[in-house]
Amino acid sequence: MWEPLIGCVGAFSLTIKLGAGSRIDYFSACSYTIRITEKAILSCTLRTIFITKFSTLGKGFTKQMSPQTLHRDVVILGSGPAGLTAAIYTARANLKPLLIDAPVDAAKQTAPGGQLMITTDVENYPGFSEGIQGPDLMVEFRKQAERFGTEFLEAWVDEVDLSERPFKLYSGDLTVVTQTLIIATGASAKWLGIPGEAKVPEGLGGNGVSACATCDGPLPAFRNRSLVVIGGGDTAMEEATFLTRYASRVYVVHRRDKLRASKIMQDKAFANEKIEFIWNSAVTEILGTPEDGVTGVRLRDQNGHDRIFPTSGVFVAIGHKPNTELFKGQLDMDEVGYLKTSGHSTATNIPGVFAAGDVQDSVYRQAVSAAGTGCMAAIDAERFLDHLPVAMPGGDEVTIEGEHITPDHTAIIEPDGSMIPNKVELAAED
Ligand code: NDP
Repeated sequence: MWEPLIGCVGAFSLTIKLGAGSRIDYFSACSYTIRITEKAILSCTLRTIFITKFSTLGKGFTKQMSPQTLHRDVVILGSGPAGLTAAIYTARANLKPLLIDAPVDAAKQTAPGGQLMITTDVENYPGFSEGIQGPDLMVEFRKQAERFGTEFLEAWVDEVDLSERPFKLYSGDLTVVTQTLIIATGASAKWLGIPGEAKVPEGLGGNGVSACATCDGPLPAFRNRSLVVIGGGDTAMEEATFLTRYASRVYVVHRRDKLRASKIMQDKAFANEKIEFIWNSAVTEILGTPEDGVTGVRLRDQNGHDRIFPTSGVFVAIGHKPNTELFKGQLDMDEVGYLKTSGHSTATNIPGVFAAGDVQDSVYRQAVSAAGTGCMAAIDAERFLDHLPVAMPGGDEVTIEGEHITPDHTAIIEPDGSMIPNKVELAAED
């Protein structure tokens, strides 16, 4: 009975091609839908694949489908290092997590596996002394999550309702109802949208154009070369400073004559002899060829004068955008849109909703730190489902029953508002 369905999915499997001869058939490498054991999920998965990959076919197909509701204890949104680590931990804890990941969409910068799917060599993920290709690493993450029984569903979640528990997630006709939600939707680098910037083959993205110096800076193509970093914030200063370890010279192109970066980061960049600033200028085009990669950029100054500036690489560092649009008005965020979590846990302001990875981290943004918070979110969700208190951003702790333990631990506030002292009751001595 399963064979035709599996064959059906296999026929639509997607091949992601990467630079330098690296290539991965993602769905087949991940046994993407074959591991899904529940018929309801399988039919939803198939339908979602129809909707997203074959929109003309999908329209007619969805109309015939009746609305479906899935009930779960743990739902994880996002399949980067944070989401998959949360899946490994919650699956091992027998919580039967359902992981929902976004379909491949180049324009929206989404792909199952997250940002590492567009990275080549990962040299700093512990445990791989010789380094590993980003997509290969994510395949291993996913296999490990599958091994413990994680269910996967590829779908765009259009809307969430976190106003009461169980929470509701909507994707077309499908409603997913869950007791806990782990948000690991990541962040996407901002791009300028200029000619030459798009990913290979449309542009030079991945062939001399990058938005991650930590990921790509050490690659041979950038070593002992003159490079351009675009931006004037902390990310640009950090990227430029990092790149000086490898590059012969780094030019920071900024559109104004003042940096937005913090004083300490500015001072560090100004003090670095390998960094030079090009002020009041915008990069309007990235130049090069598929064979040679990047050869230069077109610079426009504040008077509208253009000039060609030779360079071997361009790092766009104009900020990251956390993927939190879906949660606006429901979850607390900082001014940029990063989800706010408790210092001691991954709890958001809504008990039972946890956030892990880049969606809540504007500072470290590394695969390993994302995986670390994914583990924390899984443990927090497990504790919450076990009726144990989880630390909230305000310093209080909360249980699944809605009891709040005050930050000083002296009292417990019941869901009806009544307060009882939080005292250990000593057993009467004989
Ligand atoms: P920011 O928003 O702070 O800076 C973005 C920079 O890119 C600005 O200088 C901006 O110019 C420029 N920019 C934006 N859009 C364009 C465009 N279309 N064309 C040209 N230039 C553009 O983002 P960051 O990623 O630098 O920082 C985000 C947050 O993360 C900050 O709070 C930062 O402190 C934090 N961070 C902290 C780090 C750390 O502590 N180690 C490291 C990195 C980030 P303009 O100034 O003119 O607006």
